[in-house]
Amino acid sequence: MTFSNKDAQSVVYDLIHTIQKNKDYLSELDGKIGDGDHGINMNKGFTLCEKKLEGTEPSMSQALRVLGQTLMEDIGGSMGPLYGVFFETMADKSEEVSEIDEATFEAMLKSALSEVLFIGNAQRGDKSLLETLFPAQEAFSAALTQGKDFAEALEAMRFAAETGWRSTEDMVAKIGRASRLGERSRGFLDPGATSCYLILDSFATSIKKMLK
Ligand SMILES: [Mg+2]
Repeated sequence: MTFSNKDAQSVVYDLIHTIQKNKDYLSELDGKIGDGDHGINMNKGFTLCEKKLEGTEPSMSQALRVLGQTLMEDIGGSMGPLYGVFFETMADKSEEVSEIDEATFEAMLKSALSEVLFIGNAQRGDKSLLETLFPAQEAFSAALTQGKDFAEALEAMRFAAETGWRSTEDMVAKIGRASRLGERSRGFLDPGATSCYLILDSFATSIKKMLK
């Protein structure tokens, strides 16, 4: 199963619309354990990317590159650079590939995770987007090892991402502004883990629609 990179700009448009729809939810979550700007920042970056893409006909990789650069350069907070490298790395790993298969998507996920680990200070267990991204990547790879096809591996990724995201509710934050709350950070979902789940869920839905 593959999809055409050239025809898959909808993957990025779906991400943009997902963040726009969840802007208030993300800021509300961030307001409980942070400074309440996660939805505002993410929406600003994704919407600016939408404007930059207007009138162009990018491939998925080209659109991911614009999204990554925009998040890197134009949004504040700690999440801009993290999601910036996340999407830029995904562009790097796919731009030479015209038909994206499960191996290419696995490479995109794996490299995005290692770059986020490299530039961030978080470890797994700190209550961050890694709680979503780490198990999601592992589940995608594990599904392929078990002989599952691309669509099934995407479902495995989605399920692991959701489970990981929900696990942050019972975690104490060890990084970022929320860590200052100590035990009081327990009982709330992590906003970065939430946006990461929304992003991976959107990838899974968009790609499954296009697989041939
Ligand atoms: Mg914030």
